[in-house]
Amino acid sequence: MSLDDVVLAAHATLAGADSAPGVWVAPGRINLIGEHTDYNDGFVLPFALPQAAHLAASAREDDQIRIVSVDLKERFETRLTDLAPNNDGWHSYLAGVFWALREAGYQVGGADLALASDVPIGAGLSSSAAIECAVVAALCDLYHLDIAPMERAKLARVTENAYVGAPTGLMDQAASTLCTLDHALFMDCRTLAVEQIPMDLNAAAGPNGGYAILVIDTMTRHSHADGEYGSRRAACEEACRILGVPALRDVSATGLPAALAQLPTAIAPRVRHIVTENQRVLDACEALRGGDLTRLGALMTASHASMRDDYEITEVSVDAAVETALAQGALGARMTGGGFGGCVLALARLDQLAAIAEAVTREFAERGFHTPVTFVARAESGAHRV
Ligand code: ADP
Ligand code: MG
Repeated sequence: MSLDDVVLAAHATLAGADSAPGVWVAPGRINLIGEHTDYNDGFVLPFALPQAAHLAASAREDDQIRIVSVDLKERFETRLTDLAPNNDGWHSYLAGVFWALREAGYQVGGADLALASDVPIGAGLSSSAAIECAVVAALCDLYHLDIAPMERAKLARVTENAYVGAPTGLMDQAASTLCTLDHALFMDCRTLAVEQIPMDLNAAAGPNGGYAILVIDTMTRHSHADGEYGSRRAACEEACRILGVPALRDVSATGLPAALAQLPTAIAPRVRHIVTENQRVLDACEALRGGDLTRLGALMTASHASMRDDYEITEVSVDAAVETALAQGALGARMTGGGFGGCVLALARLDQLAAIAEAVTREFAERGFHTPVTFVARAESGAHRV
């Protein structure tokens, strides 16, 4: 049974067989390149994953909200008038969307929602944004709200920041809402300008066939990641004070040597990562537009080296996954996400993907790491009605 059928069946149990729900889908996302650039007013380049939140939804005449999570086998009920920011669990991410829309002045009534998602929770693939963006899409259609895509993403972010109380940037919700099939989404985190960058790796076939991205979830999640994230942000802020710039975005690649000369040795490498990473995102867009996957791969690998050596946010298992993928002939490989574990992306020929996955699994077993989970990613569509 497809997840669409699963949520339709759950919705029928919740609301009755004649409730005539629609189904909306919103994907998880992964960042192709551009790490820790978001809070430096820089550039990111995420794309939407095949894994997505599926939501069957129907409007109600009254102000009740009823939600079932098929995955968690849980059910939750509340009233629109009872909504107040809270972090009481999975349902806060869904009920919070009603609250965010109403706070922004939109007229929404009650609804019956049935959710199922195959975005893994807590893997850095943004299962939270997927469920928020699915609810935003559903409520916009059910209540005929004319809200532009970036505004929808912002409302999903308000849900996560102001209702659930989880501080996140806008990238996750923007990607889940705005991505289009076979494109990555370039986003300027200062201006929020976006551009669809063609990313049909399979079409960019060389003499040996098409390419794809293999995602390797190392299954490693280090508990100190939050503290390290905070200290990286603090280092960037300190560098801005010393350099007298509003954000590290304002240090250009050509201005980098002069900037580095002004900075203490503990901070200089952090700045070098951010400035070179922003340039790599721009270069990756150019490489994708030109179908130059060799260059894209080199940029990915350079990004990883920068995260490992300058920003110091990698750890043994992600480094091992990258090295093993490259040794198996990948054009490029890098950790994606905040760091200290999580997922690695490898750009490789279709006929190499299985061997890379096997080699990484073998290497991890030999070194006593977690058993990795791998899947092939194609750039999918953002939130839409089925
Ligand atoms: P991620 O990196 O996957 O976004 P978060 O901690 O930001 O991790 O969000 C995960 C939370 O989102 C879960 O703890 C849960 O509350 C909610 N969530 C995600 N997927 C589902 C789902 N399929 N069903 C119910 N809740 C979900
Ligand atoms: Mg999240």
